[in-house]
Amino acid sequence: NESLCALAMSEGRNWMPFTANRLVNGRGDHRVVALAKGPYYTMADGRTVFDSLSGLWCTPLGHGHPRIVEALRQQAETLDFAPGFQMTHAPAVTLAARIARMAPDGLEHVFFANSGSEAVDTALKIAIGFHKLRGDGGRFRLIGRERGYHGVGFGGMSVGGIVSNRKMFATVMMPGVDHLRHPYDHAHVAFSKGQPEWGACLADDLERLVALHDASTIAAVIVEPVQGSTGVLVPPIGYLQKLREICTKHGILLIFDEVITGFGRMGENFASQRFGVTPDMITFAKAVTNGIVPMGGVIVTSEIYKTFMSGPESAIEFAHGYTYSGHPLAAAVAHTVLDIMEEEDTNARVRALEPVLEEEVHSLRGLSSVKDLRNIGFTAAIELSPLPEKSALRSVQLFEYGLQEGVLLRVTGDTISFGPPFISTPDQIREMIQKVRNVLLRCEEDF
Ligand code: PMP
Repeated sequence: NESLCALAMSEGRNWMPFTANRLVNGRGDHRVVALAKGPYYTMADGRTVFDSLSGLWCTPLGHGHPRIVEALRQQAETLDFAPGFQMTHAPAVTLAARIARMAPDGLEHVFFANSGSEAVDTALKIAIGFHKLRGDGGRFRLIGRERGYHGVGFGGMSVGGIVSNRKMFATVMMPGVDHLRHPYDHAHVAFSKGQPEWGACLADDLERLVALHDASTIAAVIVEPVQGSTGVLVPPIGYLQKLREICTKHGILLIFDEVITGFGRMGENFASQRFGVTPDMITFAKAVTNGIVPMGGVIVTSEIYKTFMSGPESAIEFAHGYTYSGHPLAAAVAHTVLDIMEEEDTNARVRALEPVLEEEVHSLRGLSSVKDLRNIGFTAAIELSPLPEKSALRSVQLFEYGLQEGVLLRVTGDTISFGPPFISTPDQIREMIQKVRNVLLRCEEDF
């Protein structure tokens, strides 16, 4: 088994062409994961590493949860698949109602997809279709935000704010997309604890875009309430509220991409509830199935739902859906995940763990490689002082030292992001940050 893994790595047949993978391909099988249990991975070389990012923000209940595994097995035995275009089934129908009950009031219906990228593209199409079905077809513009990440579909990539992701496809990006400036500014929020107080005024950018293009051309604004993939960027106080006000005033739909923040990561079912702002749509994925099988979706208001369901033509015109939408296995797993979250009150657990993570992460302040520290809910990030020429090498080195110390690190550019499983104990969080401290100190000697 080990030599097979080494072969796979050295031949590079599993194509994930990211910098870190390119740099480490062929460097042995210490990067091959063999087992996962609770908050730990066991690598092929026998090393155990703490899963500091819940996989990729998707295993809040830890790996290999026996109840989830059993739910999957039972569902596979009774109904393993049904074509969603022709029929439906209890797991998906009841799950949709349950997710709607967990969402802020007013968000009542769920359109299932299978990933965050699919959920985002679905939401963008719903936004444009909604206006069109209401006779307001001039609204085609979409607005995202700098540093936003909304997956890799053409829609999600276009509204996404990562310029390097768009570069190769610049000529075929969706037309009519603008990006709001990002409120993050080191000068104002460096080493901030909690929500920065500066920057809500940047939501006024939206008013400027409205003045430039005319509100009657703008379909929707999409933002992550807390930007996750680009390093836990916390919205300034009042920012999301202001976006909501401007959208409401001009009939623009507001979409919160909660692929990371949904299902408890912020200590509430959704970040919308934590910030007290209700969007018109919420996209979700990841944690809903605890990572064991893929699922994503969009929660929409009754108004949106009714617009699409008002006549047979509207449903036909919106020719959208996926083979695996509302897959019975994913729906059964999601029910069990939500049962466990409810029974164990993981939202309360996250609220109790938040100050532990906050204190621990901020104890790294003062290390020479640390430029900024951020945290909210059960997420945190370390922003490292930039190294213009060696950042990619440092990323790889940080990851390697992490494996040696026993902590799996998510390093993207100059940022290390954390989102441990909700089942982590305070001691495990302290141990995680101690390991991170060792990693940073070792890296400071090299770079
Ligand atoms: N939106 C957000 C906010 C995300 O964080 C991600 C994934 N990190 C996506 C969309 C895309 O999800 P997926 O990788 O499942 O397509």
